[in-house]
Amino acid sequence: MRKVNNRIIDLHDAVLLDLDGVVYLGPQAVGGAPESLDAARRKGIQIAFVTNNAARRPSAVADHLRSLGITCQEMDVVTSAQAITALMARQLAKGSKVLVCGTDALAEEATKVGFTIVESFTDEPVAVVQGYSPSINWQRFDEAAHAIQRGAVWYMSNTDPNRPTNLGMVPGAGAQMAVVAAAVDAKPVIAGKPFPPLLEATVERVGCQAPIFIGDRLDTDIEGANNVSMASMLVFTGAHGKYDLVSAPVHQRPTTIGFDLMSLSQPIRRANTTDTGWTCGAAIARIVGGKIEVSGVEDGVDAQLDVLWALANLCWAHPELDPSAALEELDMVP
Ligand SMILES: [Mg+2]
Repeated sequence: MRKVNNRIIDLHDAVLLDLDGVVYLGPQAVGGAPESLDAARRKGIQIAFVTNNAARRPSAVADHLRSLGITCQEMDVVTSAQAITALMARQLAKGSKVLVCGTDALAEEATKVGFTIVESFTDEPVAVVQGYSPSINWQRFDEAAHAIQRGAVWYMSNTDPNRPTNLGMVPGAGAQMAVVAAAVDAKPVIAGKPFPPLLEATVERVGCQAPIFIGDRLDTDIEGANNVSMASMLVFTGAHGKYDLVSAPVHQRPTTIGFDLMSLSQPIRRANTTDTGWTCGAAIARIVGGKIEVSGVEDGVDAQLDVLWALANLCWAHPELDPSAALEELDMVP
């Protein structure tokens, strides 16, 4: 065992979490998630659940998490609807007229920060705020397009092009954004990951000094953390896996990796460079005869993640090398 004084919960004062693929997977909590978060809380670590989904109310997210056995209050949930309307409140006068192109949950957030909700471009809104809605009427896209063409500032909760369901992928907020974009010569102001406002709003809410963001996607979660210079951990219980990690562009590389939230109470995984490659714990990834060679591959996901972390660092420094044979050896990591 490595010595235990450099666990993630020893190094950070707040754990900020993506939801799908990190805390839950479809209808179930990810294994160990409730216990790991409770253990972090007992150490005084603040926990916040951060979601790009603007369609669900924070209270509905909190109810959902509690139904999965996860401790959560409504104020522990930060949504992109809250982040975009908070940003609008800083940029627009109180009481300004706003057209909502999204759910009632988004309209409620806009009302809470003092805007007057209008239903048509003919009401001369100063802004359009758009977020994912699974039941939007097409007419609402027309209203948004008309308003934006007449000078309303366009705000967007997030840009995720699609969202996973148990039947497969369906169009998401980014697809609905594209509908409006097809008709206007404007670009929206965006709150959700990977853009900074959502994580900035979370840090402000929590009041933390040294947070870490935990996510399952490199292009939203990890890039989002990097965009606000926040530490990050990629977990392997969701969308992205080892192949994505080793080929990640520089702005999508996490600070560390862990299999799931149980990694919070384990020593943080760090890689060190050597003359011929990289090490992590007992694992080595190096270049031998122009090829990648890994050692330390043992049974056990933690040992394999050590190898992967050394290997990822080697691949990022040497993108010309082919890691596929080494990755195949890591049969316990998706
Ligand atoms: Mg996710």
